Amino acid sequence: MQSFNPFYNQNFLKLIIQLSTLCFLLSWPQLSLIAAETITSDKISSSQKTNRTQELEARLTPNEKEWLKKNQNLKVAVKSGWMPIEFKLESEDHRGLSIDYLTRLADILHINFTITNYVDDISPEDADIISGVSNKNLKNPNFRLVNQPFLVFPLAIYTNKNIEKQSKIKSLEQLNNARVAIFKHGLIGQKVSENYPKIKLVYVDLADEAFEKLRAGTVEAYIGNEMVVDYHIAFNRLKFTEKSGLTPFSSEVSMAVRSDQPELASILEKGLAVIEPDSEELLEKWKVTDTKNYYFLNAALGLISIILILGIVRFYRFKVTIKKKEAESQQLIWYQANFDYLTKLANRHLLHNRLEQALGKASRTNLLVGLLYIDLDNFKRVNDQSGHSIGDKLLVDAADRISGCVRSSDTTARIGGDEFMVILTELKDIYSLENSCQKILTELEKPFSIDNHIFFISASIGVTLYPDDSQSSEALLLYADQAMYEAKKLGRNRYQFFTQSMQADSSKRLSIANDLRSAIHNGEFVVYYQPIINLKDLSITKAEALIRWDHPTKGFISPLDFISIAEETGLIDSLGQWVLQQALKDLSIIRNHLGTDFQLSINVSPYQFHHPENLLSWMRNIETQGIPGGCISLEITEGLLLEASNTVLDTLSAVRDAGIELAIDDFGTGYSALAYLKKFDINYIKIDKSFIQNLTSDNHDAVLCEAIIHMAQKLNIKIIAEGIETVNQKDFLNEFRCDYGQGYLFARPGPVEQLLKLLEAPDRHF
Ligand code: C2E
Ligand code: CA
Ligand code: CA
Repeated sequence: MQSFNPFYNQNFLKLIIQLSTLCFLLSWPQLSLIAAETITSDKISSSQKTNRTQELEARLTPNEKEWLKKNQNLKVAVKSGWMPIEFKLESEDHRGLSIDYLTRLADILHINFTITNYVDDISPEDADIISGVSNKNLKNPNFRLVNQPFLVFPLAIYTNKNIEKQSKIKSLEQLNNARVAIFKHGLIGQKVSENYPKIKLVYVDLADEAFEKLRAGTVEAYIGNEMVVDYHIAFNRLKFTEKSGLTPFSSEVSMAVRSDQPELASILEKGLAVIEPDSEELLEKWKVTDTKNYYFLNAALGLISIILILGIVRFYRFKVTIKKKEAESQQLIWYQANFDYLTKLANRHLLHNRLEQALGKASRTNLLVGLLYIDLDNFKRVNDQSGHSIGDKLLVDAADRISGCVRSSDTTARIGGDEFMVILTELKDIYSLENSCQKILTELEKPFSIDNHIFFISASIGVTLYPDDSQSSEALLLYADQAMYEAKKLGRNRYQFFTQSMQADSSKRLSIANDLRSAIHNGEFVVYYQPIINLKDLSITKAEALIRWDHPTKGFISPLDFISIAEETGLIDSLGQWVLQQALKDLSIIRNHLGTDFQLSINVSPYQFHHPENLLSWMRNIETQGIPGGCISLEITEGLLLEASNTVLDTLSAVRDAGIELAIDDFGTGYSALAYLKKFDINYIKIDKSFIQNLTSDNHDAVLCEAIIHMAQKLNIKIIAEGIETVNQKDFLNEFRCDYGQGYLFARPGPVEQLLKLLEAPDRHF
């Protein structure tokens, strides 16, 4: 061994400098995690151990002691991506809070635990214990929960501290009517929505996704497990966010054991009770220390430094340990900050870095760089209908397929729920880029087989090119997103190159989104009505409500230009509610005027069914006003039924119970499956105007139209044909015995006064 004399060794000065650097680093709050790891001993002190062992001894029954003797080696199933509860780096051992608890249990029970990787349906042959079950959410019938949870953390509120209004949010009450991100696995969302129904929950499946939404301002807060989220924030150095308050709710972690081993359940319960007094100490190691702790830490470190200068050899060893732990923690930080735990792909952060690198290199070599933004079509449906664990497996499979389509030198990243990006480097021409896109589309179109089920999805890809579209990485990321949006609009399962007109389109959308916010308050909207004609006798007993926006500087803006924006920003909630209320007022006027029943048909967005509080309270309003439910029909799209969650199904049945009728809008443009409509008790189908406008004798659309009408008649569903502009079209539809028609031939949409005049006119010649 090399001797070490502080006063003669020339490295002494260097060492002191390193020590001060270390002290400086430790005074950095984000890095205090490292400090916490180094000063907290992993090992239980021997006197503590004897005490605990004796206490446990006294509690165990002879039977349980016997069982322990026979079962010295137990297998524990542990998760790999749940920081800081239990997690694992690529080639290292599992670690985290659960592991520390297990280590201590092993110490006092005198047994060994072998760790295996957790899967949802793990079999009892592969594990005796499951180390961490969140919120009693155990679905595996072969295991039962140990009675008491061993970890309980408060759920905290995180906000964007750059937005002044948000940083004042201290409690859930202040979040009524606000959009709040919440982790979709587990029961947190349920607890919040039961107790605070006015909070609009936005489900996310990655913490990254929640923080992205917070940063962008599309949610006002994020509710999460304090321990886990604090850790995430510290590791990812998210400076824009802060914990602004706590909720009355908590999140629990329990262990579970094989159902056929009741002794083990009781032993663990007793063991956990015995080490309960150590929990403070165990938790401390994983807590993100706040500034106060850091002062204490720094003072302690100062003291340690003095002691060390007196006994420099010990200090040297200490420094080596610190270095080692620091290196480990750095690696951990690096992994967390750069990779997605589910798919093991790069995350948004690493993608940005790699893109910068790629652009730098391309500018020297004069080669092209392609950037793809891939969004899976219909993924939400799989997730909602088959559960998140299947959804997650599909994402992992999709991630593998995407990265399999590109070279290993290219970067594939997952940047949100079902959104991926790929950087294709060293491209000589755009043909290879198109090739890669086509390959990805083909791969993702193939069936996914997961847990004995087959799923079909597809993808929409936006493509942008360096240096043609832009030289800046920020712009390229934005453009790829805009091109993807265009690919979705053009019918999905396709790729779309960015064009400058998309950028213009996007700034127009942005300005509309801004103006929309104030337009309701400023009274800039009107509801127009277009009569729906009974084709047999030309009587008018129905009309469709269509919103109009009279913008103070831009004039009339078509709903086609703002409804989708209102839907994306969540503004559709208040906009849709305004239309419902206005239509109800106008309906009273029409009823008073006519003295008979009249039906108004109102367009309702899927969002209003997914977040139905406003819709439900409006329905109660109809009832109190004594208006029969049958005087209202709601126009919905097929997509809503295909993606029907429990909330949607409940809302649909509440609509039916109120006697309100339902119409399927734009029929023929989507899936057009008739038979299942019966299941949802649909009253009307509105055939899309694109069909009606192509009607000529014997063409494809005419055949389809006739077939739809025949089928609907059999199912006792009435047909409304939209967009009738010519007498010819009307005659065709009459021939097919279509029930109702709507279109410019009869009347254009107009204010309620125009509808009243039309209803008065005795003779109608269309
Ligand atoms: P939609 O529900 O399919 O409404 C029918 C559209 O066809 C209306 O366009 C109407 O003005 C137009 N139209 C009616 N007859 C004819 C015709 O003979 N020829 C042609 N070419 N078009 C005809 P509008 O008012 O521009 O509305 C566009 C879309 O905006 C609507 O399509 C609907 O999806 C949405 N929308 C309108 N009002 C609301 C609303 O209050 N809430 C929601 N969620 N969506 C709305
Ligand atoms: Ca409609
Ligand atoms: Ca329509």
